[in-house]
Amino acid sequence: MTGPDTPGHPRTRANPDATVLPPGGFTTVFGRELIGELPNFVHRPWLVVTMADLWPRFEAQLSEHLAGVHLVTTLELAELEMAADALSPCAAIIGLGGGQALDVAKFFAWRRGRPLFQVPTSMTTNAAFAHRAALRHEGREVGLAWAIPEAVYVDVDVIRSAPPGLNRSGVGDVLCHHTAEFDWKLAHDLGREERRWPYDEGLVAEAREQVGAVVGALDDIHDITDTGIRVLMTAHRWGGAAFHDAGWNARHLDGVDHAYLYTLENQTGRSFIHGQAVGLGTYLGAVLQDNQPEVVLGWLHRAGVDIRPEAMGVDWEAAGTAMQRLAWYVRHADYPYTIADARPVTDDVVAGIRDRITATYGAWPAEGPAAPRGGFV
Ligand SMILES: [Zn+2]
Repeated sequence: MTGPDTPGHPRTRANPDATVLPPGGFTTVFGRELIGELPNFVHRPWLVVTMADLWPRFEAQLSEHLAGVHLVTTLELAELEMAADALSPCAAIIGLGGGQALDVAKFFAWRRGRPLFQVPTSMTTNAAFAHRAALRHEGREVGLAWAIPEAVYVDVDVIRSAPPGLNRSGVGDVLCHHTAEFDWKLAHDLGREERRWPYDEGLVAEAREQVGAVVGALDDIHDITDTGIRVLMTAHRWGGAAFHDAGWNARHLDGVDHAYLYTLENQTGRSFIHGQAVGLGTYLGAVLQDNQPEVVLGWLHRAGVDIRPEAMGVDWEAAGTAMQRLAWYVRHADYPYTIADARPVTDDVVAGIRDRITATYGAWPAEGPAAPRGGFV
């Protein structure tokens, strides 16, 4: 007998050639022209949750039994509570978008007790594959609600039509397992881990396997090939379920990498393309951890994730200040113990990071291209 779990045979959770996906994630279908099939099986009438700039493209395919369309403009819980109460009666909910639309679709499915069908239009986040919705409440991100979609439909042609920078940025949410692992072990060794999440070598090994799968496909992800889409989305599928399956534990998934994004958001009052800012946070974390920072920088560059602050619409002044405020912010916001608590970010650390990023990506041109935004996020 041979198989992925046969002793001596490496487990290949993200094997791009596998026909059947491994356990540990929502039912996921890869294919083409999948949106046009939805009217043949989604319960009628359906509500579509999407973004204003995506809807005109898909409206004709989903208009026949349409109960209504909700165009996402906010992730604020109080506003979404009111919107949920005011929704037209529907028999099912279709989430169509990169992250925000899928999160709001989850929330509505939970509030109204309706079956959910998720159609990610880009690879920016693992929102399609996670149980809870990432929403905003009283100035903080909250993970609220519970929805298991009937299936997640990954249409490779739809994904490929999203801006390449957005698709590539999705590796940020997988490569961050590299710094998360170090943070969890550090907290464990220093007696600072949470009682409910004791360090678990098995979980760490699973996360490491996901990093390995994505690192092995960085060129395919850069080029957004069918293989690249399959590998990255399969890693997202694992990551989305892993938080729940480990008992709402994210210690093997993220750490200082995400803490940096939240610090940057807090300081600038702006929102960012998730994986791009997390990518910069992962590089910062690897530098502070002395944890293969050059390797991490090489991964991000090879995947085509531009972690220069200017590519995120901020300058080095803002990015560097956020690095130096990180230690304060993680205590202010009461995040789990990470390298941010253990090692201060000095002027020299910031200067070194700036030098290495500039040497790798080049200096930002005076008239740089605008960072991609819009409904795909
Ligand atoms: Zn994330």
